[in-house]
Amino acid sequence: MGKTTVKVRLLEHTPNPEKIIAMAARLCYSAADIDGLEANVAASDQRAFVEKLLDLGHHSTIEHVSFTFGIEGVSRSLLAQITRHRIASFSVQSQRYVGETKKQNQNDTFEYIIPDSIIALGPEAEAEFAEQMAQVQRWYDGWVEKLGGGRGAYEDARFVLPNAAETKIMVTMNARELRHFFKLRCCRRAQWEIRRVAEQMLALVKEVAPTLFANAGPQCLVGPCPEGKLSCGSRAEVRKQYGLNSAGEVN
Ligand SMILES: Cc1cc2nc3c(=O)[nH]c(=O)nc-3n(C[C@H](O)[C@H](O)[C@H](O)COP(=O)(O)OP(=O)(O)OC[C@H]3O[C@@H](n4cnc5c(N)ncnc54)[C@H](O)[C@@H]3O)c2cc1C
Repeated sequence: MGKTTVKVRLLEHTPNPEKIIAMAARLCYSAADIDGLEANVAASDQRAFVEKLLDLGHHSTIEHVSFTFGIEGVSRSLLAQITRHRIASFSVQSQRYVGETKKQNQNDTFEYIIPDSIIALGPEAEAEFAEQMAQVQRWYDGWVEKLGGGRGAYEDARFVLPNAAETKIMVTMNARELRHFFKLRCCRRAQWEIRRVAEQMLALVKEVAPTLFANAGPQCLVGPCPEGKLSCGSRAEVRKQYGLNSAGEVN
């Protein structure tokens, strides 16, 4: 089976992200010169600086720190959604250069993502989905052969591959874009796959920049739900999930 599941890794990030942000704040609000900036930002001040900047809405300062993730085990459907975020940089495994023939894959088929909703229908539904992927594999292999094999063939044979086909992505976002991304994509109204990825990304950045991302997550953590009539109606539960109290403060 080519069935696979999501994996998110934080590959790299700006070293000492909260220190850099505190230095930016110092630069803006004090007479310190560049050489004196670092000395003026004691570790104990960093938290207060970052909290203040976030409260003030002085968010250009948090653009100085970036986070790079490696994501795999996600569908091309997820790819279409995540790449809508324009203030981010992406590298995506190419279906033009990387073939998906049965021979190349160690499994029966190319890797694919099967939605939980289909798995929940039971083993027969899952087997039906797997057979459909196997059928697509036969179509793909047939086109690769008819088109002469190799890279030239992958480019057009890939047109029969489904949204379910697995992809691998490297994505870099700065902290401002990440907080925006979490607002939209950690929301319970977001599609399940991108929400799963966003939640994992958030957990990873919280480990390295806990103050910066303390109240990051869906919009309803810090304000009213933007979904109106479509709201999930579970704000209190969502706040609890993120370790905040009913007023949206860190517990
Ligand atoms: C629940 C949900 C449902 C969705 N449904 C659909 C759908 O049915 N169809 C569809 O096409 N998309 C859909 N989207 C995608 C959505 O329209 C956005 O393209 C996507 O969420 C990226 O958001 P963004 O533009 O705010 O973010 P980014 O591209 O990351 O940009 C961040 C911010 O930068 C600013 N910005 C960026 N570029 C510009 C610009 N050119 N001009 C001015 N300001 C800019 C904006 O303030 C923006 O919010 C959906 C998204 C969600 C979360």
